[in-house]
Amino acid sequence: MSKPIILNYYEFDHNKHEKYLISRRETFKLKCNYCAKEISASVEVTSNWVTHLKTKHIENYQKYEKEKKSYHIETVKFCFSFYNTFLFLLYIIYIIYITIKFKG
Ligand SMILES: [Zn+2]
Repeated sequence: MSKPIILNYYEFDHNKHEKYLISRRETFKLKCNYCAKEISASVEVTSNWVTHLKTKHIENYQKYEKEKKSYHIETVKFCFSFYNTFLFLLYIIYIIYITIKFKG
């Protein structure tokens, strides 16, 4: 189950909170890493956690925004490399096919 990046800015305990990664709509409280305030939100709707970071800890919010962007870039890169590998394999199969066809 994927964990939203915003959770890295709160005291997310895997043993205690893992079930919320599955029941993603369920609201639960997390302690902020920077001021120990407890904020309620859910994995699906993380806006309360994001808003707290944005209004109270702007520097960390900017860090979060950067992390979020680079996460998307990494995902796109990964898909692209996967696609390239797939094309390369198709090309190899094509070459083998052509070789066999012209031999026989
Ligand atoms: Zn805080």
